[in-house]
Amino acid sequence: MSRFPADPSSSRRKSIAGTRLFIVGFVIFALAIVGNLVWQDYQKQFVYTVMVDGEVLGSVSSRQEWRDALVAGRKSTEERLGVSVILRSQVDLTRTRLAAGEKVLSSQTLAQAVEAKLNFVTELVALTVDGKDVTFLRTEEEARQVLPSILQDYRKSLAARGGTEVLSITVLEKVSVRRVEAPISRLADIQLAKRVLLRGTDKVETHVVARGESLWGIAKSRSLTVDDLRRANPELKNINSLRVGQQLNLIVANPFITIRSTERYTFVRYLPFVETVREASSLWPWQSYVEKAGVYGRNQVVVEIARTNAEETSRTFISEQPLSSPAAQAFVLGTKVFPAKAGGLIWPAPGRITSPYGWRHSEFHRGMDLGAPYGSSVLACKGGTITFAGWQGGYGRLVIVDHGDGMVSWYAHLSVISVSEGQAVARGDTLGQVGSSGRSTGAHLHFEVHLSDEAVNPSTYYPPGG
Ligand SMILES: [Zn+2]
Repeated sequence: MSRFPADPSSSRRKSIAGTRLFIVGFVIFALAIVGNLVWQDYQKQFVYTVMVDGEVLGSVSSRQEWRDALVAGRKSTEERLGVSVILRSQVDLTRTRLAAGEKVLSSQTLAQAVEAKLNFVTELVALTVDGKDVTFLRTEEEARQVLPSILQDYRKSLAARGGTEVLSITVLEKVSVRRVEAPISRLADIQLAKRVLLRGTDKVETHVVARGESLWGIAKSRSLTVDDLRRANPELKNINSLRVGQQLNLIVANPFITIRSTERYTFVRYLPFVETVREASSLWPWQSYVEKAGVYGRNQVVVEIARTNAEETSRTFISEQPLSSPAAQAFVLGTKVFPAKAGGLIWPAPGRITSPYGWRHSEFHRGMDLGAPYGSSVLACKGGTITFAGWQGGYGRLVIVDHGDGMVSWYAHLSVISVSEGQAVARGDTLGQVGSSGRSTGAHLHFEVHLSDEAVNPSTYYPPGG
């Protein structure tokens, strides 16, 4: 143990001095860290607002971020188009504080904005129509293919109709090519360039037809006229039969070029034949038949058609040459009078059965059709009272005769009715004339016989051979 113990105060002083130094050092260190954090945080409140050609694109956090996005955007544009581009937009970066709620552009949005909003230009080949640049292609070779390709399509579509010889195709405007600097957004391929020349725009706007829509309604909702819609959709044949899901073009074509053409069109005109009728007293009316079928005559007609943009503008008659004459049809008409027995029926109109009673495809034919000429007399098959004389849906003009004892006969598709309801008729009285009214494809008599409200086969009332 030391008799002269060390001065405790001096050692304490040393220790206190060390602690102070440590604290000061710590405080400075801590302040530096906090200060740096605060500085960084302060810095974060500042962003760079990007203005492109006077329009705000958005904000980025640093100049470097913008430079990187620009380089990447230019590179991807060049790779996509296969051309080198020059930036023609005026870009300004302004250091500002981020407003409350505002965010800097995400890297994805930034990349998209660079490609979409910046005006990158490149040297392209313009297709000019009467001195106006209307569309731009990558190479002169491509540009020079556009018009010939349009004319080739045009020629093909004319020739698609047989018997057509294209005589001339001319374009009224002067179409040429020239090298220009143009925005890359205008770059077109051959197909698009063709569309621009033919439609006057590269815009495509369509309307998909929904259930219950009419052309008139669509036109109104799109601020167009029905005429506009028809001109924009020339392939639309029947404006009353829009299909659900059908696509309608909403832009009326206003072509940059005017194509004039002439073609020689040769076609066959068919000439009708006459029918000679030979009466045969040995045949029942329903045994009538075509002895020799008629043949249409044929004439070859040549016309010259002038068109503007495919629309026919005039047609000039050139010649008409007979190819073959029509041959008459010979018809044998059975005139043997059917001896109506008591209660028997007479044949209601001249001609044979063209469609019998019974199943016809998926439909039950409730009567028989007699191929009687238009206008021939329709006779009451038996005496009775007229219970109906007028129009009835698919039957057209219809006469119904009640013969008593539950027997009723129907005469349909008449052109003329010459009896009225309540009138009494005798067997063989004229009820009207054969026609094609109602659901009918040609002149004939549809004849039904009903027994106790049940349509039965009328031919069972006549001798066989019908
Ligand atoms: Zn029928």
